[in-house]
Amino acid sequence: MELIFMLFAGVMLFMFIQNMRQGSMLFGSVQKIIDLSLKKQEAELKKKQDYSCNHCHANLENPSDISPSGDVKCHQCDQWYNVYQ
Ligand SMILES: [Zn+2]
Repeated sequence: MELIFMLFAGVMLFMFIQNMRQGSMLFGSVQKIIDLSLKKQEAELKKKQDYSCNHCHANLENPSDISPSGDVKCHQCDQWYNVYQ
């Protein structure tokens, strides 16, 4: 009788530990996803800040308009500015 109880308790403990492990793994991956999306948002925010006109602060509509040196012509005020400055 006692042996069965011990066995039962052991199985319960094992299942409990497995659940904890899975729970922390799940929590870890959720944390990773949150971290990733936060970093993505940060990068996008930076991009938007970089790609706005120095003169009228209009956001750049087409990032492919940027020349390799970073020069781009504003679509609103038609003035040149540099996204790396
Ligand atoms: Zn402008």
